[in-house]
Amino acid sequence: MAAGVRLVVLGKQGAGKGTQCVRLSHRYAVPHISTGDMLRAAVRAQTPLGIEAESLMSTGELLPDELITRMVDERLTERDATTRGFILDGYPRTVVQATMLEEIVAARPLHCVVNLDVPTDLVLQRLVSRRTCVDCGSIYSTSEPPVQRWLCDVCGGEVVQRPDDTAEAIMTRLQAYERETLPLIDFYLERGLLETIDGSRTPDEVLKSTVEVVERRKKEHG
Ligand code: ADP
Repeated sequence: MAAGVRLVVLGKQGAGKGTQCVRLSHRYAVPHISTGDMLRAAVRAQTPLGIEAESLMSTGELLPDELITRMVDERLTERDATTRGFILDGYPRTVVQATMLEEIVAARPLHCVVNLDVPTDLVLQRLVSRRTCVDCGSIYSTSEPPVQRWLCDVCGGEVVQRPDDTAEAIMTRLQAYERETLPLIDFYLERGLLETIDGSRTPDEVLKSTVEVVERRKKEHG
């Protein structure tokens, strides 16, 4: 299987986007660019961006399109992304962002946009039990904790409940998703880029279907 791919992965909060993106990035040897992880790192380091982002993030509201696009644009100009490609996770999240992304990647177009489809009642269930490593972003749950409680199996970091994984912030994020991100389905359908995958199955099954779709798209690109 050839290395390199340019993908956007869409899906509701708790659809398993993060887990799939990590696995896809290993499989294709491309960086996993997660805006949520980048922002959480900025908050922890208390950079100017992190200080600006912190309060909006804790309520579940979206950050301004220009701010987030600047951050993504910078990351996409780094050598690993320009030479091999990328898995974009959590961006774009609005039609304005998707239009900006089109300009950024005009010379290296996306292979496809993977939409992980999961019913809302299932994502709610997953989100309240979700626990996340503060250092590397690995995902666990109260029913599947790390081997050594609560230290990350991957990096030894502390595994906690994200401050925005409270019932109230989850509702705000799901509403923002419906209002701002759902229109991207039509946006990418119109461009012939959308591939919808049933995300309610096991991570292995979801990965298998995604790789099949991506391989087909890569062949079509030539
Ligand atoms: P979620 O679990 O809601 O998908 P993420 O980890 O992707 O969470 O993002 C966490 C928060 O970071 C969002 O609720 C939002 O405040 C901010 N954020 C991340 N990506 C974007 C984006 N593309 N546009 C605007 N805000 C964003």
